[in-house]
Amino acid sequence: MMINEKFKIQASCTDDFDSEAITVSNARQRILAKINPVSATEQSALYQSLNRVLAQDIISAMNVPGHTNSAMDGYALAGDDLPQTAPRQYKVIGTSFAGRPFNDQCHAGQCVRIMTGAAMPAGTDTVVMQEHVEKITETEIRFAQGHRKSQNVRQAGEDICKGSIVLQKGHTIQAADLGVMASIGIGDITVYRQPRIAFFSTGDELRPVGDTLGTGDIYDSNRYSLHGLLSQLNVETIDLGIVKDKPEDLREAFKNASEIADLVITTGGVSVGEADYVKQIVEEMGEINFWKIAMKPGRPITFGKLGDAAYFGLPGNPVSVMTTFYQFALPAIQRLSGQADRSPLTIRVICTSDLRKRAGRFECQRGILSYNESGQLTVCATGKQGSGILTSMSRANCLILLDDECDGIEAGDSVTVQPFGTYL
Ligand code: AMP
Ligand code: MG
Repeated sequence: MMINEKFKIQASCTDDFDSEAITVSNARQRILAKINPVSATEQSALYQSLNRVLAQDIISAMNVPGHTNSAMDGYALAGDDLPQTAPRQYKVIGTSFAGRPFNDQCHAGQCVRIMTGAAMPAGTDTVVMQEHVEKITETEIRFAQGHRKSQNVRQAGEDICKGSIVLQKGHTIQAADLGVMASIGIGDITVYRQPRIAFFSTGDELRPVGDTLGTGDIYDSNRYSLHGLLSQLNVETIDLGIVKDKPEDLREAFKNASEIADLVITTGGVSVGEADYVKQIVEEMGEINFWKIAMKPGRPITFGKLGDAAYFGLPGNPVSVMTTFYQFALPAIQRLSGQADRSPLTIRVICTSDLRKRAGRFECQRGILSYNESGQLTVCATGKQGSGILTSMSRANCLILLDDECDGIEAGDSVTVQPFGTYL
């Protein structure tokens, strides 16, 4: 990466660097090590199973296709009986339809009219497409040389072989998987129970949408962003509303949440301000694993345990909530769901903006991926990157991930981006 002198900034004792802060990847590893996937399973009707996580290997009891069949509308015959040097005439002895096979034997000099998907009749292994055939009478056709034995035929088991593992335990079921399982006749499957995730916002200044704001009040937007993020996932959500910065209220909310959920997520109250009680209370009631991460925007964040439930205390700033969700909560939730571990999709693209960044911490800047005139995928910054500027997240379709060592990007440099939203 090019060193960008224009934006190179030296760390000073007055900035927010913290020598005790741990790296993002270290934090993620520590979190994942503490997450116990939900082990309870349940039966799920195939039709209702999109996005659920398989708790069993899916093994096929049959071949797909179940019988060797035609890939074209045309005429089936023996490949050894194809014309070699000059056009030849054949007798049409019957028709094989999809679902209505032709049951007699086909011999040399003969062929069978065949439709796409129809079973290949005995004595045939090759299909000549109808466009290549000249029809002489209802029962006689002619076509030229130049065809290949076995052409236009789908072999039994060519998609799925009987006895093979089609989908593995831990796989998240996609649209095509529903079709694949249906194609082998499976209508009910065993999946992991969805994790239950309880969340609430903390802050005396927060008012629910619909209320009138007093001086210094703000609407609680974090709960809406979180609701949106969680609703895209395979989880059950429990919205516990707004909780005041009062130790008794927080204790009560944490107790309630940890009894009903596998994971509790809160926003706000985790810094070291006078009204920030979250850390202290979680420490009292459970266990806190770490506290400071070298990441912007995003620190401080808290991860811990409340009884059997895992706990994330995300920052209060609306952008930080979303960036820390993508970096930490999302992989944790995927693990909790029983999904096989996988890295998020990231892409290297050309950045068309200059980006300010200081070395020593990881940054998630908001980016817009788009195609330039030559059809190449590029990313530009959304503009102001403050952690309170939630519209930057709204305009963005990816996070630009800048690692600890990076000390600025000049337009034209390559950067790594993590698409989100519909690409998740
Ligand atoms: P805190 O971490 O509680 O100090 O909050 C940091 C900043 O985020 C403050 O400006 C809060 O007002 C703001 N904030 C906290 N919670 C929310 C919320 N639920 N919705 C919108 N902004 C919030
Ligand atoms: Mg607060």
